[in-house]
Parts: sequence; structure tokens; C-alpha cells
Amino acid sequence: LIAFLLYLFYLVAPIGQLVQSFTQLQNGLAAITRIREIEELPGEPTVAALRADGPPIGVTFDDVVFRYGDDRPIVHDGVSFEVRAGGLSALVGPSGAGKSTVFALLERFYSPLSGNITMSGRDIRDWDLAELRAAVGYVEQDAPVLDGTLRENLTFAAPDATEAEVRHSLARTKLDDLVARLPEGLETQVGHRGVLLSGGERQRVAIARALLRRPRLLLLDEATSQLDAVNELRLREVIAEVATDTTVLVIAHRLSTVTGADRIIVMESGRVRATGTHAELLADDDLYRELATTQFLATATP
Ligand code: ATP
Repeated sequence: LIAFLLYLFYLVAPIGQLVQSFTQLQNGLAAITRIREIEELPGEPTVAALRADGPPIGVTFDDVVFRYGDDRPIVHDGVSFEVRAGGLSALVGPSGAGKSTVFALLERFYSPLSGNITMSGRDIRDWDLAELRAAVGYVEQDAPVLDGTLRENLTFAAPDATEAEVRHSLARTKLDDLVARLPEGLETQVGHRGVLLSGGERQRVAIARALLRRPRLLLLDEATSQLDAVNELRLREVIAEVATDTTVLVIAHRLSTVTGADRIIVMESGRVRATGTHAELLADDDLYRELATTQFLATATP
């Protein structure tokens, strides 16, 4: 039974997936209680143990070949790139290029057929899985808000977070004014049965939640939904702020994100076709120019 629960834990541990399943089940905080119950069994890693500590992580992909199954087509056909420790890097490319698969491999949901992936110079296969889960934070696209208080939404994956840490993560994600506006501040019910948050606020809540776990590498799948100009500016500022002490790798859907990135990786059909800054790629890469000037990279709604 313990082995099964351990297996279940690792299956659901990545917070993004956890949150997604919760929403699908509409179980909200009841499911969290269940996870805590599982956790209390002897020998289980605790949620608190999922909090990382350490310098930002640099990542390399070296000629990575991958497919989702023996009878499935090749999805990564020799992917190579480097993401330096600290700073903001962006993945862009048409749908199906293999961007989300980069995240799935970094989270070690799958292993490459060939090639090597390193994090902090160490082969990803040599990382202890619990250590890796703690080090890598993931904020999914259109992150849901669970039924519960705003505080519960922030701290469920870091229950030992102090009040000061909660306040700090709110400040870093520029949510203080939201808290000031809510009738009961952090204790306000949000989600379906409470105050509904805007798309931009939801993604910043998800970032604040991830930050409380002190990730050393933050994977962010930017929301495709339109944001108003104020929320877009806020999100850009928040990403830049987080990237000062964490490596941030974002699947970018917004022009304003890529223009602020230190490095952009352009993927197409399972390969990296170009890397560079926004200005370099605009000058050198036809596909990037097309992405930047069409609906692939959205601009804010005025
Ligand atoms: P998008 O912008 O649409 O999310 P992407 O660039 O992130 O696209 P991936 O999601 O990495 O691309 O998908 C690359 C290919 O792998 C696609 O053909 C997709 O259908 C396939 N794929 C992705 N996830 C899975 C999965 N879990 N099982 C099987 N095939 C998958």
C-alpha cells in the first residue's frame, strides 16, 4: 500500500498537474486534505520537503531525441540549447513544435530516447526525483484558482511558509493591491464560490504559489488568454523580478515577454532553428519575424 501511495504521490506531486486534476474533479481543497493524509504515512516525503533551496539552475539539452511511445512519431528530433542560470529565457514556435515537451522532459515525466539533459551541470537522470521536484516549479497556462481562501490557494503546497514569506511572495507578484481590495484580505474566499479573479490575477496567484516553494528553475507556460494592458505590464514586471534570482524558462505567447527575455529559443518541428535576442532574431530569422508580427505572439488588449 505504501509503495502504491508513494507511486501516487510522485504521479500527482508536480503542482501544476495537481491543480489541474483538482479542478477537473472540482474537489478543490478536499483533495489537498487527502494528499496531506497520504503524506502523513511513515516514510513519505512531506510537502514541506518539496521546498527547494539553492542557486538558480542552468539547463542544457544536447541532441535530445524523444517520442511519446514506440509507435508514436518523433517529437524532439535532436534538440540542443542552453539556458544559463538566472535570467529569463523564452521558448517560442508554432503549435506542435515541441515546447511543452521540453517542460515534460525537464520535469522528468519522460526520458529521452537519446541525447542528454543537464540541470546545474548534472545529468537529469542522476538527480534524486524528490530533489528535482522541489527544485523545478511549474506554472501552467490559464492556472486555475481553487475554491478556498486566497491564503489557502497560496500556501497549500508550502504549509510551513511564514507570514513574512506569504507577504513577500504577494509583493513580488504585485498582488498586494488585490489583497487590499478584497473584503477579507487573504482570508477572502476565491474561486467558483468566492470572488472571481481576472486571468492576469490568476496567473500571478499561481506564480506566487510557486515562489513560496522557492524553485531554482521556474517553468512558466504563459496564458494565451488576452490580458488588458495593465495586467500585461504587471505580468511582465513580475516575470522580470522573479528572473533576478531564479532561472525562468517561459513558453511565451506574448510579444512583451519575448522582448524582455535575455534569450529566445525558436523551435519548429521538433528542432531548435534559431536562438538569440528579440532584435537579433527579428533581423535573422524569418519564422521568428513572422511569429512576432502575427497573432502567434499576442499584444495587450488596449
Ligand atoms: P503547443 O503550442 O500547441 O502547446 P508545443 O510546441 O508545446 O505545442 P508539444 O505540446 O510539445 O508542442 O507537442 C509536440 C508533439 O507531441 C505534438 O505532435 C503533440 O501532439 C505530441 N504530444 C504532446 N504531448 C503528448 C502526450 N502526452 N502524448 C502523446 N503525444 C503528445
